[in-house]
Amino acid sequence: MFKAGWPLAYVQEMLRKRLRNSSENNEARMTWTVLPVPCPKCGEAQNTTPGDFDPNDVPFGPVSCMVCGYEFMQGEYLQGLKTRRREFGLE
Ligand SMILES: [Zn+2]
Repeated sequence: MFKAGWPLAYVQEMLRKRLRNSSENNEARMTWTVLPVPCPKCGEAQNTTPGDFDPNDVPFGPVSCMVCGYEFMQGEYLQGLKTRRREFGLE
């Protein structure tokens, strides 16, 4: 499972490896849901998320920025996640 604060390049490589192994596809899909999203305030992609975090859950999160403590709103997090997934070639 992805942990907040890992370098993006590392996460990307980890996802690539997992995608090659079909038996781990479910785990990889779970990992996609918690890709780090850049903070609207400081720009750092280091999120703190609850252990069983699902970004579509209501109430949302809480998800906050590890660097400046900014608390994400669900809408902006999901938007950021969408952008992130595109960057990773997942959408
Ligand atoms: Zn921040």
